[in-house]
Amino acid sequence: MNCTKCGNPHVIIKKEESGQFLCKDCFIKSVEKKVSKTIKKEKLLEKGDKVLVALSGGKDSVTLLEILDDYRRRHIIDLCAVTVDEGIDNYRQDGIDIAIRHAERLGIEHKVVAIKDEYGITLDEIMERDNHRGSCTYCGVFRRDIINKTAREMGATKIAMGHNLDDEVQGIMMNYLEGNTDNISKFGPKTESKAKEFTVKIKPLREVPEREIGLYAVAKDLEVHFAGCPYAQQSFRKEVSDLINQLSENHPTIKYSTLRGYDKVKEAIGDEFKKEFKLRRCSVCGEPSANELCRKCTFLKELEVI
Ligand code: SF4
Ligand code: ZN
Repeated sequence: MNCTKCGNPHVIIKKEESGQFLCKDCFIKSVEKKVSKTIKKEKLLEKGDKVLVALSGGKDSVTLLEILDDYRRRHIIDLCAVTVDEGIDNYRQDGIDIAIRHAERLGIEHKVVAIKDEYGITLDEIMERDNHRGSCTYCGVFRRDIINKTAREMGATKIAMGHNLDDEVQGIMMNYLEGNTDNISKFGPKTESKAKEFTVKIKPLREVPEREIGLYAVAKDLEVHFAGCPYAQQSFRKEVSDLINQLSENHPTIKYSTLRGYDKVKEAIGDEFKKEFKLRRCSVCGEPSANELCRKCTFLKELEVI
């Protein structure tokens, strides 16, 4: 089978949802075009933005950095990156090294921030405790705190996250299945917080399937950290992901239809489920918070590190 676009006999992918066969060059272009369409449609970037990429060194964030770097080279935006070191032995360091090499290669300002340096404890140390809340709960809250703080320090106007189509669909289904209406109205391509201290977050890769991002990284010969986090297996997200992938085998467009359907539902419900709360300051760290203590400080107190 030849490339549907240019006739090249060296096809590297059959796009399940459209049935197209693509060669390497046409496939790379198709991914980049899809991302730029999302950026345009959702108004994710403005000229003069300084975008902070949350760069783990994995395929999603490396692909995101690579595609956004094109906007930097065209002088549309400025780019910087942050890598969070959660303190996971035999896993995180490889990703950090890869992130450093990409930032150096592109000449981008880059920071590595360790959870241990910020809060005095690593994720591994937390997981050795008896009464923990599960690795991903701490990881998500601490990572968000570090990324938000770094965005302020680096003067970023947007934070770009590497969420792909599969991540988005998993998030949507998890919110439905858990009845999390509060999150249903918050979830989307661009999230703005009530607090001006929290930089706007954008997801330019949300319409690109995970499999295509992996293939994009390989096709462009990008060095990426493919190893999975040792704590990942236990999550509810993984169960939801397996279920969606199983359904996709007989229904190849199901991820796109879930995303499109959700985007319409979100628009229709507007602020219906948004919880109104007064923003105040966390009494320990001073960050904006709905409660007396922010989640991060609640966890740090439970862990007896503050
Ligand atoms: Fe953190 Fe690992 Fe959970 Fe991802 S899977 S949120 S890296 S603990
Ligand atoms: Zn706090």
